[in-house]
Amino acid sequence: MRLSFLKSSRVKVFLVNVFILSIVVFFTFFFRYQIIKYSQTRVLLGTFVRIHICATRLDEKAVLSAFDKVWKRLNEINERMNVYNEKSDIARINRSYPNPVKVHPDVYRILAFSKKYSELTHGAFDVTIWPLVVLWKEAQAKQEIPSVQEIKRTLEAIGSDKIKLLADDSVQLMHPQTRIDLSAIGQGYAADEVALILRKEGMNSFLVDTGGEIFAQGFNESGRPWSVGIKDPLHPEEMMDVVRLSDGGVSTSGDYEKYYEIDQKKYSHIIDPATGYPVNNVVSATVIGENATQADAFSTVLCVLGKQGISLVEALSQEAAIVVMEESPAGSISFYKNDAYQRMSR
Ligand code: ADP
Ligand code: MG
Repeated sequence: MRLSFLKSSRVKVFLVNVFILSIVVFFTFFFRYQIIKYSQTRVLLGTFVRIHICATRLDEKAVLSAFDKVWKRLNEINERMNVYNEKSDIARINRSYPNPVKVHPDVYRILAFSKKYSELTHGAFDVTIWPLVVLWKEAQAKQEIPSVQEIKRTLEAIGSDKIKLLADDSVQLMHPQTRIDLSAIGQGYAADEVALILRKEGMNSFLVDTGGEIFAQGFNESGRPWSVGIKDPLHPEEMMDVVRLSDGGVSTSGDYEKYYEIDQKKYSHIIDPATGYPVNNVVSATVIGENATQADAFSTVLCVLGKQGISLVEALSQEAAIVVMEESPAGSISFYKNDAYQRMSR
């Protein structure tokens, strides 16, 4: 009875159809709900900005619309903060002395962060560094180290107390030569702003890379925390460590990519605001912290302070994972990795 039932050709056709249909339904379902990685890259903020979002194919429209909003926002940030763009708020501040100038709330907020980081790090982080950056750029063009007098004179305009934040998003410079440069914090801030938009657009898993400053949230397309490679400053094509990140920012600062060259000697592009000279024994510093703005500011701070700065940064951000690489005058290299970093990179 059973056999004859199975032998019936109509039943066989039916079963085959059901089988094929189940496979089609399964794969359609799998295809639509599979998590994939959407990636876009643009040249912005003077670097390559890369954004990866993980979501299903069903989310494609929402993802593409989120990308559009992000690029629009980054263009705005770039226009407001680029020191070389005459129309930017930063350029307007830089030629405003002695008058107050009204700026966009973005710029006011980042200046408030910068002043705070400057106070917390006893001046090691200082966005009024621009006159010294210009002096060292000119020194490179002339191939001549600035004189002690020139450095001393330039230092008079440096200090975050020379930026006064007034009510109503207005900013006033307190010294005729003070000029602002947000290069040490702008990319981190931009990465955090992108993260804010992506969250608002309903995205849960993404990685934002604004040219070495990173913010990562959620999981990659394999459902694991994002892996972020920490570059080996001695062999920038290779990775020294890989860390797993699901909610945090990473930043590396150092003299291995950007530097001045005067008389065949390399000088870091990070300047110690206490002396006016480029830092000379820290090759690089990486900070993994709660957000990219903080990681960006603190990685610059650690390039100024070296291993001595690790306890200061730990006191300001308990979770911060830190690695500092120093070079002795004789040329030997040492790494200083705090406990949080060792746990993460294991
Ligand atoms: P990167 O540009 O490699 O990410 P940083 O975030 O450390 O590196 O920014 C370095 C830039 O910040 C320099 O090129 C200069 O414009 C500016 N800068 C240099 N020294 C300081 C400092 N002590 N505090 C704040 N900004 C600095
Ligand atoms: Mg920085």
